[in-house]
Amino acid sequence: MRLLGLNSQMDRVEVDRRTVRLDALPIGIAPDEFNDLLVKNEETKGKLVELKRRFSYRKIILGVDRLDYTKGIPERLRAYGRFLRNSPQWHGKVVLIQVAVPSREQVPKYGRLRKEVDELIGQINGDWSTPDWSPITYVRRSLPQSELAALYAAADVALVTPLRDGLNLVAKEYVACKSSGDGVLILSEFAGAAAEMGEALLMNPYDEEGLSNAIGRALSLSESERRDRMMALYRRVHKNNVFAWGNRFIENLSQAVDARSEQSRDEPVSLPTDSLVEEFTKARSRLILLDYDGTLAPYASLPQDAVPTHDLLNLLQSFGQDERSVTAIVSGRAKVDLERWFGGIGNIWLAAEHGAVLRSPLTQLWEEPAPGTSDVWKQRVYPILEHFVDRTPGSFIEEKEFSLVWHYRMADPDFGDWLANDLITNLEHMLADSPVKPVKGQRTVEVKLVWANKRQVCSRLLTNGAHFDFILAAGDDVTDEDLFQQLPSRAWTIHVGRDRSRARYFVVGPEEMVGLLAQLVKSPGMQTSLNPYAERNGERTIANDPPSVNSLDAQKPATAPATAVISAS
Ligand code: UDP
Repeated sequence: MRLLGLNSQMDRVEVDRRTVRLDALPIGIAPDEFNDLLVKNEETKGKLVELKRRFSYRKIILGVDRLDYTKGIPERLRAYGRFLRNSPQWHGKVVLIQVAVPSREQVPKYGRLRKEVDELIGQINGDWSTPDWSPITYVRRSLPQSELAALYAAADVALVTPLRDGLNLVAKEYVACKSSGDGVLILSEFAGAAAEMGEALLMNPYDEEGLSNAIGRALSLSESERRDRMMALYRRVHKNNVFAWGNRFIENLSQAVDARSEQSRDEPVSLPTDSLVEEFTKARSRLILLDYDGTLAPYASLPQDAVPTHDLLNLLQSFGQDERSVTAIVSGRAKVDLERWFGGIGNIWLAAEHGAVLRSPLTQLWEEPAPGTSDVWKQRVYPILEHFVDRTPGSFIEEKEFSLVWHYRMADPDFGDWLANDLITNLEHMLADSPVKPVKGQRTVEVKLVWANKRQVCSRLLTNGAHFDFILAAGDDVTDEDLFQQLPSRAWTIHVGRDRSRARYFVVGPEEMVGLLAQLVKSPGMQTSLNPYAERNGERTIANDPPSVNSLDAQKPATAPATAVISAS
């Protein structure tokens, strides 16, 4: 969303008309391999005996990391130094074995890290060592798993404190070697593994004091608490092992493939413009249903800036004049917007607020909404939207007669989408018994009347007794999807945009959609004496200076069917 501006949901993202599934599948380890090393491998068993003898009166704290700045080794060493300073009772009784595997040594930053770690260890050992005790044993090389398993098994505490880590396998490997339940894992809350390992002592690795205290706590944890925590971790590491992870991955892939084949059945295909124009030309009676925002005009940061172009108005004027077409703009816009922009065009229907209010071309008046339509719910919803505006810089509220819209087009998209979902969940509960519901649009959440939708507008036009042998419906929004589904299968349903839709066809954007209208207006099927683009004998008569909308007002023959524009932004 941030880099490519794609529309993303929690579990999917639409890319090039494909759905890419998103899931978090934390990898597991093969715990039995560690168990086998401990039980069957002579080298591992020998190493373990040696470690136990060497550190027989001492508690072992273990760190195993690549020498990488994400692993938080200096922070950990400083916390251990502080622990030694604060806990003289542990002097001589505890040792930190730090294994650090050299990594990316040619990169200068890594060289500096190596030097810093060397110096810190030198300092701590210098400050606290006695002739028979060094607080840190430093191993700066890679160890084979047979040796690591012995270290994991011997360690009383594992300190896994990366500043940031995708997962961290060391945490899981340590747990896998603790079948006895004896051991404590201190784990950074910034390691991916922390999401699955809640029984560890979860720590902020930057918090030196906290980490130092956690070391003290881990060393003194009661046996029962230690076992309870470790056994819960052990069971989970065994259950969510690498094989379970593999199965889950494959299962997800198969589901994605199934979903893809299902999805491709109702994927819109590129619009065959020539066939459409041909059918339009032959048709004797046509119904044209057009959404406005995102369909006839691109979205603007502020809704009031998305005004129709002069060319578009002239095209719609031509549709209004066409004797064989009923045209409707069905929009989510307020009626004032539609009236201002399209009120001057004769003979088209206007449906505002998703069909909550209609303007018939015959009366040129906006109809009263259904009896009982009230907006008292606004008093409850407005303060909630205000709260979301306060939390989201760049967002704002639009108030329409029968709906309230929270717009977040200018806010951070990631944050905006996240809050939008939160808002919808809150409102859905609150408005369960009310006549309105929240609907997510294109970077908007709109609270609108449940009954006001494009389907209902369309039914009204279709049941007016008219028979249409050509139906075209175009839209870009979720509110258009119901309409696409409701129309007969022969209808030319056009989704504007590249995402999935129930429409049969797609065009890429408003520019192409307006281009299509221009083609229809130029086609021989357009029956209007006032058509500024009409061609006679293959040549345009008045091509360069189309008449203004107002000058065309009311010039349509009285017998012409009405045209409606229905928009749902
Ligand atoms: N490892 C190893 N020898 C060592 C130190 C680490 O084989 O001396 C292995 C360890 O067993 C683990 C991996 O390196 O499987 C480290 O994986 P992790 O996810 O913890 O960190 P990464 O290095 O991938 O960031």
